[in-house]
Order: sequence, then C-alpha cells, then structure tokens
Amino acid sequence: MSARKLKVATCSLAGCFGCHMSFLDMDEQIVDLIELIEFDRSPLTDIKTIGACDIGLIEGGLCNDENVHVLQQFRQHCRILVAVGACAINGGVPALRNRFTVQECLEESYLHGVGVVEAQIPADPELPSLLPQVIPIQNVVKVDFFLPGCPPPATAFVEIIQAVRDNREPRLDYPMRRFD
Ligand code: SF4
Repeated sequence: MSARKLKVATCSLAGCFGCHMSFLDMDEQIVDLIELIEFDRSPLTDIKTIGACDIGLIEGGLCNDENVHVLQQFRQHCRILVAVGACAINGGVPALRNRFTVQECLEESYLHGVGVVEAQIPADPELPSLLPQVIPIQNVVKVDFFLPGCPPPATAFVEIIQAVRDNREPRLDYPMRRFD
C-alpha cells in the first residue's frame, strides 16, 4: 500500500446531495478510509478551488454553464474521474425538465407555479445560464468509472477508492448498486 494518501475531490452539480450523504454513511469504515484519503475541493471541506487530485467524484448531471465549468476543472485536475449516481450518469431526476423548453420551465417555476407570490423570472447576470437540456457528464468529458445507484451505497465508494489505490478495476457487483 502506498504511504501517500490519495487526494479526493468531490462536487455536487445538478444533484440533491444524496450521493454525498451516502458516501458519509459508512459507519466505522470511515476510520480505515481516513487512513487512505484526504479531501481537496469538496462540500465536505468547503475548499473552493481544486488542486491536483487522484480521484474526482462527480455527483449530478449538467444543468447550467457553471456546472460545465466545474466539471471541466475536475477533469483537468483529477487523474481518475468518477460519475457518481444516476443523475451524473443519465441526468436523473433533474432531466425530467428535458420535456420542456427552458422558457417553459422558468415560467412554471417563477410565474405560474403553485405558491408563487411575486411573479418574476430572475435575470441577475451573476446567475448561471441554464443549458437547453440536462445532460450526463460523459457528454462533455471523459469519465473513467461509473458508480450506479440512487444513491450508490457507501461500500461502493470504498471499493472505488481501494481499486484506485491498488491500481485495478473496481468490482461493482449488484450489491454495490442501490436504487431506493
Ligand atoms: Fe440525489 Fe439520487 Fe441524483 Fe444521487 S443519484 S444526486 S441521490 S437523485
């Protein structure tokens, strides 16, 4: 086993953070994992910029131009990039909007939707621009491994990390996938 800890970065793009929650739901296995890895950019560290990493774990698909920018940064800096969960792999729940145009989605959300009080579509230039469709991350960058599930179980994250450490293919058999 290498003495150097693997550097891991994570991000949530068009996702719900459920995959991140699952990653942390590993009980006492986390003690062993802490010996193996250290986190770089991640919602878990609140580090906003990414350095050279061994593994990038991407939760969520791409719904706006900021998502694309973050993903490209991860691809640039991570030796191994992993699509984590259904949303990253096929768009998942956010891709339900793909039946509609962006304008229809905005009007439903901000003008006509249930509970709208002050009807106005936000137009601040600092807001990221929505893509016409929600798309999987492999449509934009090369992905090295796919971790299926919604969310994948914690043991699947451990298997990916151990596989990278051991320089082998991960063994993601059926028990390593979960669709609640
Ligand atoms: Fe949430 Fe499931 Fe998507 Fe993960 S795959 S971000 S748990 S909806």
